[in-house]
Amino acid sequence: MTDKTMNMILQLMKDVLPKDNLVPSSFYWARKLLSGIGLGYKKIDACRYDCALFWKENEHDNFCPVCNEPQWKYNDGKEKRIPIKSMWYFPLKPRLHRLFMSSKTASDMRWHAEKRIDVEGSLSHPADSIAWKDFDKQYPDFARDPRNIRLDLATDGFNPFGNMSTSYSMWPIILIPYNMPLYKCMKDEFFMMPLLIPGPLAPGKDIDVYLRPLIDELKELWNGVETNLLGWTTKGYSACPCCLYETDSKRIRSKICYMGHRRYLDNDHPFRKSKLFDGKPETRSKPREWTGEEVLLHLNNLEHKFDKLGKNPSKRKRKRDIEEGNWVKKCILFELLELSYN
Ligand SMILES: [Zn+2]
Ligand SMILES: [Zn+2]
Repeated sequence: MTDKTMNMILQLMKDVLPKDNLVPSSFYWARKLLSGIGLGYKKIDACRYDCALFWKENEHDNFCPVCNEPQWKYNDGKEKRIPIKSMWYFPLKPRLHRLFMSSKTASDMRWHAEKRIDVEGSLSHPADSIAWKDFDKQYPDFARDPRNIRLDLATDGFNPFGNMSTSYSMWPIILIPYNMPLYKCMKDEFFMMPLLIPGPLAPGKDIDVYLRPLIDELKELWNGVETNLLGWTTKGYSACPCCLYETDSKRIRSKICYMGHRRYLDNDHPFRKSKLFDGKPETRSKPREWTGEEVLLHLNNLEHKFDKLGKNPSKRKRKRDIEEGNWVKKCILFELLELSYN
């Protein structure tokens, strides 16, 4: 939608509503109103090959600090310069503030501690998970205050142009406040979108570059987020981010299938002896569980092997060695983990 269309719609609304209504008269005033209540946004330019943001120390660089590509393109003849690629950042803090400004949502934000019923052996909310409970054990001070915020970070690509272009994808980053009961926090009005990563290509492993402002803000908040986005690519033969090197997979027709889930069962479970699954009994025990600390240590040893040079076409392809497994990067979220170990 263009600014002009938006202006016309707002004008129409203003005209049809009773006199003295408070509908902003133009797009400009609507934006002013939103940023006034803490729902503003920042536009941050990025390298066209996703290696860095023109932000903080790089803000006035004009050229990518990693691959030296220019930040701007010039409209020939005219003075005006246009950023080649930019993303939108919606600061998190004012949005979190707003959740505590109404007594209704503020009590929802304490729901996980005050109203949730813990049913032994059932998993009905992330608060029932081992990860959540483990986190509470490690940070009792954090766990004690029911107002502390637990966020889930999720992302996926979508195509804003529907059938006009099949390959374009934009990547919104969504934060979900898990403090609330699931029937509320899974509603779109409580989803927060701190970042919108532009297309046309999926950011892939370069997503960290775009997460930078968000991570910095979370570090400031230090509320420790705990998450699954590890930096282990979920493609190929060892794709499971929990089983890592032990992922059991098999090619069936053209798809890679992840097999062998019976090994998670108790050693005397009847399914283990059954031949109805893949024709063989399961004798392997449960794979080893990696702790966050172990993964971190392992990645610190591999870190020098990961390349940093975005998608710049001048980059040479490199063969991956076995030790690297499916690790492609040390995910930026580990910075939050390191922070909490210090
Ligand atoms: Zn670059
Ligand atoms: Zn697994």
